Parts: sequence; C-alpha cells; structure tokens
Amino acid sequence: MNAPISSVKGIGGQKAKLFERLGVCSLFDMLYFLPRAYSDYSRVTPVMALEHGQDAAVRVTLASEPRNAYPRYGLTITTCKAQDETGSLQLVWYNQPFRKSSLKNGDVILALGRADREKGLRIVNPELCQTPEPPGILPIYPLTAGLNQRLVRVAAKAAIKAFASLKETLPEGFRLGNSLAEINFALQNAHFPQDEASKERALERLYFEEALMFVLSLKLKRREREAESGISFKISDAQIGEFVARMPFALTEAQTRALSEIAADMREGKPMNRILQGDVGSGKTALALFVLYAATLNGYQGALMAPTEILALQHEKSALEFFSEDEVLLLRGGLPAKARAEALGKIASGEKRVIVGTHSLLQKDIEFANLGAVVADEQHRFGVRQRAAIAQKGRNTDVLIMSATPIPRTLSLVLYGDLDVSVLDGMPPGRQKVKTYFVPTGKRADMYAFLAKKLLAGEQAYIVCPLVEQSEEIPAISATELYEELSRGPLKGCETALLHGRQKAAEKQAVLDAFAAGTCRALVSTSVVEVGVNVPNATVMIVEDADRFGLAQLHQLRGRVGRGAKPSSCFLLSRSESEAVIERISYLTKTSDGFKIAQRDLELRGPGEFLGTRQHGVSELKLLGGVGMDTIKRAQDAANALFEHDADPNERDALVSLARDFYRARMGGIALN
Ligand code: ADP
Ligand code: MG
Repeated sequence: MNAPISSVKGIGGQKAKLFERLGVCSLFDMLYFLPRAYSDYSRVTPVMALEHGQDAAVRVTLASEPRNAYPRYGLTITTCKAQDETGSLQLVWYNQPFRKSSLKNGDVILALGRADREKGLRIVNPELCQTPEPPGILPIYPLTAGLNQRLVRVAAKAAIKAFASLKETLPEGFRLGNSLAEINFALQNAHFPQDEASKERALERLYFEEALMFVLSLKLKRREREAESGISFKISDAQIGEFVARMPFALTEAQTRALSEIAADMREGKPMNRILQGDVGSGKTALALFVLYAATLNGYQGALMAPTEILALQHEKSALEFFSEDEVLLLRGGLPAKARAEALGKIASGEKRVIVGTHSLLQKDIEFANLGAVVADEQHRFGVRQRAAIAQKGRNTDVLIMSATPIPRTLSLVLYGDLDVSVLDGMPPGRQKVKTYFVPTGKRADMYAFLAKKLLAGEQAYIVCPLVEQSEEIPAISATELYEELSRGPLKGCETALLHGRQKAAEKQAVLDAFAAGTCRALVSTSVVEVGVNVPNATVMIVEDADRFGLAQLHQLRGRVGRGAKPSSCFLLSRSESEAVIERISYLTKTSDGFKIAQRDLELRGPGEFLGTRQHGVSELKLLGGVGMDTIKRAQDAANALFEHDADPNERDALVSLARDFYRARMGGIALN
C-alpha cells in the first residue's frame, strides 16, 4: 500500500534520492508534502493587462527566433520576443538551452509564469502548457536542486491517485462539529485545487488537524508529567535570601518573579519543566545559577548545557563566580581519551557537583552520580526530543530551558504546551540601547563611508546578507558579492572577512577566531552569526536587504552588538519602496523589546515564521508553516474541550489515540504512556 516514491513513472533511483532530501520517501509522504504556494492559471490574461509580479497564463505568438547567449561559464540565457493582439513581451529562460531548438518564430504557445515589469515586460522561466486551455490553479512545491515543479506534480498526482479513497482520520461528529473538510477532498484540493475556496477549505482542514495533534500530544505529555514524582528540593526562604545577597547586583523585578516561580517548582514533588524566555542580556544566567545552587544545596548535581563550546566556556566562567573551583567541571569536546575518562569519572563519582558543557552532556557514556537539575541554555527552540534525552539522564530530573528567542505568549502556549513558561521582560538597568536606523538605498554609500571610519578607529562590524551566492531568481544581495564589493571599494584597507554556512567548519572557525581576536574588523556573512558569537568590541550591525528577514530575526541579529562599553548602532538597509515594508522594518528603530517585536511579527506575518523556519524550527511539524493563528487557536480550544465533562468520551478516546501515534511518530520514537 505504501509504495516507494520511485514507483512513480519517471522517478528513478537518482531522482528518488532528491525526493528523499525533501523528506519524501514514499507515495504516502508525497500526499502530505504540501505546496508552499500556488499559481493561479485558471484563465488567459491579455499581455497588456499583466501586472508586475502576477502569475499568469498568456497565449502568445513567438515574434522572433529564440536566441541563446552565454554571458559567463555555466550560464545560458535564452530569449525570445512574443506577442498577442494587445501587446508584446519577452520570454527569458535561464539554463534551458533546449528551448531554442524546441521553439521557432511564429509558434503559438500558452506560457505560464510570473510577469516582471522591471526591465521591460518579461516572463522569466515560463512553463509551456501542453493543453490548449490553461491548467487552473497549480501547486508550487518546495524544491531541491535537480528537481522541477513538473516532476513533483507528477508525483503528487500519482500519490493522490494511489490514495484516492483514504479512510477519514477524524471522528465524524468531531469533524462536522468543527466544520472541517473531508480528508480526501482536503488532500486533493491541497495539491490541485478546483478553485480558491476549495483550496482554503482543504488547507484549513489539514492545518487544523496537524495543529490539533501537536497541541493534544503536548497536553497529554503535560498530564503525564504532572502525575510523575520528582525530587522535592528543600529550599528555605533564608537560603533564597542568601543567594540573592550573593549576586553582584540587585535582581530585576522580572528576575525576582522568575526566581520565585522556579523555586516553587523545585520545592514541589513533581519534576520542574519550565522554559525561561528572555532576550539576550535580560539576565537569565542568574536564574541558571539559582537552579544549580538549589540542586547542590540538596546534595544533588546540577548540569548547565549550552548549544556551543564557546557559550559553554562563558557559562563555566559564570559558574566559577558563584561556586568554588572544586565544585565545577567543564566537559570540553575533543578531549584526549585519558582526560575525558578522568572527567567522566569525576561526574560519575559525584566529586563534581556543577557540570558545564554542550549537548554532549547527553551522550550515552556520561553517567551522573545523582543528577538533580538540568539547565539548557538555548538560542533557538529546544525540541521535545532533546527534552526527553535530558529526562533520561537522571531520575525525574528538574529541567529549566532558557531561550533567547522571545516568542509571543499566545504562541509559546502552543509550542511549549507541555512546559510552564516564565518570561524575563525588560532589561537590567544601565543597559545601553543599540541605536537603530533604516537606511534607504540613497544613503547606503554614506553609511559605508561612516563604517570605514569606525573600523579605522578600531571598532568592529557585522554585515549580514540574506544570501550566500547571487541568485537569478531572488533579487537580494549575496554575502560573496558584497564581500567583493566592499573589500574593493568602501572598506578597502580594512580587514574584512567572509563567513557563510557553506564553508568548511575549520574555515568558519578561523574566521570567527580572527573576528573575536580583533584582527578581522568587518565580518560579511549570512545569518549564521545569529548563533553564539560574542564580541563586545563589535559596535555596528548592518543588515542588507533587511526586508528579507523577519522582525524577530532582525532583532536577534541586532543583539550581536551593544555588548561592550561603547555605544552601538544597527543599520537596516532595504531597496524596497513599499511603504508597508519600510514601516515594518522601521518598527525596530522604535523598540528594543523582543516580546513586542515578536508579537508584531506574529501579527504581520502569521505564525509561520515561528513554526516553520530553521530559526525556531519545529521539526516535529510538517505542515504548519502556512497556518494562521486563528486555526491554531481553534485547534487549541478543540483540544481543551475534549477534556471537559460534557465531551463525548468516544471522540476523546479516538483523538487521544491519534495524538499518541502522532507523538510517537514525530517526537523521536518516544511513546506517551
Ligand atoms: P542572558 O543570559 O539573558 O543573555 P546574562 O545573564 O548574561 O544575560 O546577563 C547579561 C549581563 O547583565 C551580565 O553582564 C550580567 O552580569 C548583567 N546583569 C544580569 N542581571 C542584572 C541585574 N539585575 N542588574 C544588573 N546587571 C545584571
Ligand atoms: Mg545567557
């Protein structure tokens, strides 16, 4: 029943590998591999009426012989004039040289593509429709190099055909009660919609179902946790007072609130499962220290995990300001076998009470004498899977996750439905704000001139671009291109380096080291700098084509500067002239509150940014990238309603059992009881 994707005609072993890269191994996977967008080709548009950026089908006569040009190695551009009764346009194909031989002057074709009016009227990479009439609404799938839309559509058609009469997954009463479309209708119309309204209904059903399964499975997890017994730490008010007194500063109101929430959790006889959200610099470390302190007070070990080695080193430093050297152990990566064995011995014997390291602390060969509490400091989302791995290290260990990505309250209730949430809003006093400016294209040269002066005066800068390499399709600047432009032009003579995710690890490390040491003054990079770079001497953050980033992400990038004594600035560039875009970015010039920014992002762009991107990545979810907040809320309400006294127990049992399957399949093979 579940045939491999290679069973589709036209998909051989090589192509099947490419599908696998997209997470599609079987025909059934393909069924749930949804389009990322749709192009509406339901009618023929007259050339004259084409609007910039519009997807359209045009019926045109070729008015010249197609010509191939080879502007540089590896690039062929085929161009051809075409017209209908209302006007003319140019058809352009990149790297499809065969178009020249398959088309000739005078041919009448039905071309599908996106109209572009930037350099005269053009359609770039149009598809040619084989049927006489326009095909309707077509799906646009996420692709990987070597695959094209045509082939993925063939696979989708095959999948729909193979599973044309699936059994409805949701209980009928529940489905109708929530006005959800039937499953077969939903899948067919999610791939090949009959019309706009059917598409909406189809997606709504699929999003709702996935959101419901996610929310429900976390809800079950939470109920399970609440029934578990954990360590009931003894922490007296006097001991809390002592801890607070030993801090080199007075705790902020937010820190005090979080501390009492954490203390209450730890005192209770069930394991703490709390997430502490707060911007970079909001003072989370003090709370991490408190958890470790409370664990050691009670004769337990505490562990502090960081996502990178550099951050682990910083945490060791913080820990040593509070604990004695005898108590703390930093487990470094890449230790020689003997040194590692010695370190592991000290963890296993309980000689060391406070253990700091990266996620490698979760490795199988590491045994703790009596691990009581774990703090995981995370830049990004900490998945259910990793949390489960922690739980296995001790016996019902208390867990505090710290996240530097502020997420709107409404969404953290969903994403962290199995956790309690504490929020550090507001910053410790005396923090200077990073001055933020919006820079239109006309001011770009001035800004780089200003930057050159700063660099020559000994300061350092990050310059972030949305792309690694130039792309024909996305009009945004690449790090590689900008690096060349800057090092030849405005930043000539300043030590500038290039950093991006496609470099080898050693190369990246060398660049980062040079930047940390100050020998490199300007770092041109993709958004890889988001994670774990701390260079207090860096005072300038420049983001090119800032409109390509979400607000939350821009805020995160901005957090890389303003960490030293010198005043810092952030410049957000955009060549967009759209008022909405400029207004969106300019919001950052007005506020530095990460929660407000995240909320704004949620309102403007929907929750996809938080659910479906690498940044906050919810790897357990496949579909939710396009979901709306109202659907999530409805799913949440429906999940809650299932546990009210008037709920239909059969419906509840059926959905709970589906949610258990979902949890097992998506959350790393760990079952709910
Ligand atoms: P986070 O881990 O949330 O990014 P840190 O805990 O590293 O932030 O704190 C950032 C800086 O602020 C540190 O130098 C810390 O000593 C300082 N800090 C933290 N809390 C306070 C406070 N209540 N008052 C003054 N300074 C504080
Ligand atoms: Mg921190």
